[in-house]
Amino acid sequence: MPAKILDGKLLAATMRADIAKQVAELKAAKGITPGLGVILIGADPASTSYVTAKEKACEEAGMYSEDVRVPAETTQAEALALVQKMNADPRIHGILVQLPLPKHIDEAAVINAIAPEKDVDGFTPINVGRMMIGETCFLPCTPNGVIQMLLSAGVETSGKHAVVIGRSNIVGKPVAHLLMRKAKGGNATVTVCHTGTKDLATFTKQADILVVAAGRPNTVTGEMIKPGAVVIDVGVNRVPDATKKNGFRLVGDVDFDSAAQVASLITPVPGGVGPMTITMLLYNTLESAQRLSAKG
Ligand code: NAD
Repeated sequence: MPAKILDGKLLAATMRADIAKQVAELKAAKGITPGLGVILIGADPASTSYVTAKEKACEEAGMYSEDVRVPAETTQAEALALVQKMNADPRIHGILVQLPLPKHIDEAAVINAIAPEKDVDGFTPINVGRMMIGETCFLPCTPNGVIQMLLSAGVETSGKHAVVIGRSNIVGKPVAHLLMRKAKGGNATVTVCHTGTKDLATFTKQADILVVAAGRPNTVTGEMIKPGAVVIDVGVNRVPDATKKNGFRLVGDVDFDSAAQVASLITPVPGGVGPMTITMLLYNTLESAQRLSAKG
């Protein structure tokens, strides 16, 4: 029986409408417009298109968006100064530094310079630490987007076996943590697989919920999936396609056609986790502005 599609685009649209409503309420009640500051260093095509999509989504939600695009030759000192400027700007409630940064810039130093109360990507060590110990923080956008998708589809995670492929700081580790924590959308037993894992299929076949964030097409195929499992494909890979105007198409890490024959629920690529990532960024920016307004 082919799997049902877990439509991230649809869920994102519903959540963004709610965010826009809350933005309008905050403006009316407190005169505060949530603002997102975006820093893009260099002109990597994928990064440029992500940043453009984030700004567009921000404006559609009625938020203020400030876009700083500087050349790849920008020095580390200049990059740090851009972050400091946004830290001090009262119109900016959330700061996003688009990764990856050019090789000559120390990524950790730039991320660590973001004020934790404006770290809407949830990447600073302070935010990550707060998340790990269950304190108020900004949950990282892609992992939280995955959890929101599971919740929206009514997938029970408590007591289930969730298998995560990938151990990056951006996706694998935080999504494993959120699935494990004692909270809604969590309380699962979690196994994390990575490039050191021997015989990946042994683990994936045990998964009630399989989250794949490997960054490689066809990491998971239908025969590696337990019948009836929920499959969340985080991967976004560009593969050459001469029939496309830009010469490539986007695919996930899961072989969709074979996986959809075995899974009960599956996310497509594109149109799955991707739109949810931006939505959770808007949500965190709104929350940052709301926290500020609550302080008086
Ligand atoms: P990464 O390269 O930092 O990490 C990939 C991880 O997968 C590594 O920890 C590695 O150990 C593991 N891995 C790779 N191949 C494997 C294999 N064959 N078997 C087991 N483990 C394997 O990547 P990332 O930043 O975590 O991103 C992962 C994917 O998710 C990428 O395709 C990226 O483009 C995508 N992504 C999508 C969104 C979104 O919004 N949809 C956001 C972030 C990342």
